[in-house]
Amino acid sequence: MDDNLLWVYEQRCLMAVAALQKNCFEAVYCKSREEACRNIIDEARKARTIGFGGSMTVRELQLEPDLEQTGAELLQHNKPGLSAEEKLNIRRQQLTCDLFLTGSNAVTLNGQLVNIDGVGNRVGAMMFGPKQVIVVVGRNKIVEDVHAALKRIKEIAAPANARRLDLKLPCAVTGQCSECNSPDRICRATVILDRKPSQANIRVLIINDDLGY
Ligand code: SF4
Repeated sequence: MDDNLLWVYEQRCLMAVAALQKNCFEAVYCKSREEACRNIIDEARKARTIGFGGSMTVRELQLEPDLEQTGAELLQHNKPGLSAEEKLNIRRQQLTCDLFLTGSNAVTLNGQLVNIDGVGNRVGAMMFGPKQVIVVVGRNKIVEDVHAALKRIKEIAAPANARRLDLKLPCAVTGQCSECNSPDRICRATVILDRKPSQANIRVLIINDDLGY
């Protein structure tokens, strides 16, 4: 990418970091994916259990081989071959893991984390339970405010996730939200973290790169 454009994105990332810090989150600017990976691996070395919220951003960082080397138990409900009951158990274990890794559907320039969940394990673990949470965010997730965040989720994140998960949802066909009433609906819990919840340890890594949905 052109250096001038990269600089503009950097300023936007730094604005998000400053706003998150004002809201009591530990927010860190990472100029590259590699820098974010180093931060995560350093934290993972202290953990015995590591939970994954099912984020495409985290998946794109390709951390698994390094995390496996730490010797920690990896709690991944999306591993192939798991029964519905096994998936549910892993999701429950994620709520009390040492380190929980997740993305965020959007981050506002006011320093809020905005997410919509279908099951609720991701937003649940983000708010309370794990000893440490790391939220990994690409620059493409930074938006002006909550209104823009919700719009982004319904127009981009949810339809893309619906297709990824091969769900029978109207947005997976048209690419547009119709506020469906489908049994498969993935938009069920809308959670806005205006400030870091008082008992949670949440570090937000803002990366100057496009990552995830
Ligand atoms: S409400 Fe339904 S149609 Fe709209 S984005 Fe969510 S799952 Fe898709």
